[in-house]
Amino acid sequence: MAVPFRKVSKTRRDKRRTHFKLSVPGMVKCDNCGELKLAHRVCPTCGTYKKREIIKQ
Ligand SMILES: [Zn+2]
Repeated sequence: MAVPFRKVSKTRRDKRRTHFKLSVPGMVKCDNCGELKLAHRVCPTCGTYKKREIIKQ
């Protein structure tokens, strides 16, 4: 197994990690109310999916 020639400094390590970003996967705007919701799910705010009302309020 290859062994790293030098220890990676704290600065270099931390610089590398600036590219690791928190991501919120699959969040899209609702077609009906514009709220952020999970993709491919019924909107929890207005209860619609694909422009049809699924949850009666
Ligand atoms: Zn909605």
